[in-house]
Amino acid sequence: MTELLLSSEQMARMEATYAEMADAYSLVAAELGFSCDGCADNCCDSYFLHHTYVEWAYLWQGFSELEAGAQADILGRCRDYVAGCQMAEARQERPQLMCPLNREGLCVLYKHRLLVCRTHGVPAVMRFPNGQIRHFLGCFRCQEIVTSRFAGTESAPHVERTPHLSQLLQLENELCLYKRASLPKVKKTIAEMLLAGAPSY
Ligand code: SF4
Ligand code: SF4
Repeated sequence: MTELLLSSEQMARMEATYAEMADAYSLVAAELGFSCDGCADNCCDSYFLHHTYVEWAYLWQGFSELEAGAQADILGRCRDYVAGCQMAEARQERPQLMCPLNREGLCVLYKHRLLVCRTHGVPAVMRFPNGQIRHFLGCFRCQEIVTSRFAGTESAPHVERTPHLSQLLQLENELCLYKRASLPKVKKTIAEMLLAGAPSY
């Protein structure tokens, strides 16, 4: 079994990409006058599946740096989370459980959190090589701002996700030694990633 672990050089590039994403997000949030301050919701209980080895490896890197007691606590929460998801799905419901990395509203692995944790909120656009364009509307609070001030999401300030995702895709290909297409597809919650250990094939 080969573990897929990021080199320090790859981690530095990943952090640079995440920093660019944060800057782009902040700029759009400022233009819209949007922030999470005072929101009664908490997006950390949203059910998301994650799809890249590179995000998994970076999350795992952060987890592996925690002390043993903290790791055991998180893994216990991950088991509860997975069991809770299974019960919800058995009831034909979409799971809505607090992320096992959230402690009193704060992310235990904030630096290592995943893409969706960093991008949800403000509108964004992604352009595909075939010319297709995908619009992301942002969270419900941001959508209220957009609809009250702009004719449509296309005319509202938005993050251009394409260059950031291209950089992550390049890292994904390098991490997978350009065998990504032949590896099992990643489709996991954060809890499932951490319970599975380091990404490997
Ligand atoms: S992203 Fe939106 S819904 Fe989520 S916490 Fe922030 S303001 Fe609330
Ligand atoms: S990884 Fe952190 S930011 Fe993302 S859902 Fe979990 S607690 Fe929230």
